[in-house]
Amino acid sequence: MPNRSSGHPTSALGFATRAVWAGGEPCPHTGATVAPVYLSSTFTLPDVGVTKGYDYSRTANPTRARLEAQLADLEGARFAVAFASGMAAIAGVTALLAPGDHVVATRDLYGGTHRLFTTVLARYGIAISFVDATDPACVAAALRPQTRLIWLETPSNPTLRLADVAAIAAGKGGALLAVDSTFASPAVQQPLAQGADLVVHSTTKYLSGHSDVLGGVVVVDDPELHARIAYHQNAAGATAGPWDAYLVQRGVKTLGLRMKAHAENAQAVAEFLAARADVAEVHYPGLAGHPQHALARRQMRGFGGIVAFRPAGGPARARALARATRLFALAVSLGGVESLICIPAAMTHASLTADQRAALGIGDDLIRLSVGIEDAPDLIADLSRALDGCPLGISSPSWYIDALGNRSRLSSQVLGESIPKHNPNPRSPR
Ligand SMILES: *Cc1c(COP(=O)(O)O)cnc(C)c1O
Repeated sequence: MPNRSSGHPTSALGFATRAVWAGGEPCPHTGATVAPVYLSSTFTLPDVGVTKGYDYSRTANPTRARLEAQLADLEGARFAVAFASGMAAIAGVTALLAPGDHVVATRDLYGGTHRLFTTVLARYGIAISFVDATDPACVAAALRPQTRLIWLETPSNPTLRLADVAAIAAGKGGALLAVDSTFASPAVQQPLAQGADLVVHSTTKYLSGHSDVLGGVVVVDDPELHARIAYHQNAAGATAGPWDAYLVQRGVKTLGLRMKAHAENAQAVAEFLAARADVAEVHYPGLAGHPQHALARRQMRGFGGIVAFRPAGGPARARALARATRLFALAVSLGGVESLICIPAAMTHASLTADQRAALGIGDDLIRLSVGIEDAPDLIADLSRALDGCPLGISSPSWYIDALGNRSRLSSQVLGESIPKHNPNPRSPR
């Protein structure tokens, strides 16, 4: 079993083994194989000014410390800092910046990160340039003497574009390179090994894996960077709570298994969609036709669980499809065991202007699938049924599944935008 107390990566072991054991030695006091969740906000001290390593849970908490050891190990690094959400983790990285600094960020950016950069950072005198990071030369060309941070997201949301981390790292000059690796998870890629300085995850997604917790993490190998981010975590206080930290830690134990299932299912779904005559475009790095498939093979181990596609028939048919699936629940977020469907233009990316979305290839007809770990034939049958039920030229499904699971025809009056939501609770498959 790896010795977690050293805080060093257990890189000789396979990923699934580390996911189970990293940060998980038995409780030193009781031997409990699964360590207790330390809910205590304060710690009784042996003497004035003396601690057993903990005094107040904002500064450090044993349950959070276990999660941080586990996540650092999985990225092949020495340090991780766990936050209350992915956005809190990203804000933790931006705390490294000072007025006058310049940031080069990929234009294919999670909406919340775009909002933080453009509306919050901009007020602190930090300049941002958005670039097409699929081309390392575009990133290099945007660098200035004041560039302190390069921000990448790969694969990107929702168009599954990739940034070549090693190539961009080679030309980063004096800037720090941060990679939001949420869409991949450490099971799929390890940006620090490719030259990044910081890796960020929304642990809300694949790391926790069950859509029941919010969290974020920053992983670094440099002690000075770690000290600065941990200082910010304690000073600003958006720490992961012990219960949330425990849920993420538990989820991570099955990450190796889950990512295999997500990727296998996503590949099957992408190939099914690509073979349909009534689907115009499919985005998945695992398809041989993906423009960066060769980079994906180099940079990733498996291609992740997110698939985006444009059905033929335009935005009305895309909306009809999002309503018509039974297993794919209509919901934002991603990375959980359950399959989700969303229309980014109307949901996750609604805060961008139509022009901004068009420039990024996020049309009103783009559908994003977070492919879960259900049985692939069931998922494909669900999509097949939905596509067949929304024939080309008909802007809405001609049938729906009622609360009892029966397939019913829609009367002509309810066809169109006023269609009743088929599933009042999109979490539960109808
Ligand atoms: C969800 C997400 C975030 C934000 O994480 P929260 O946990 O929702 O705060 C950041 N980046 C990416 C790529 C995400 O998918």
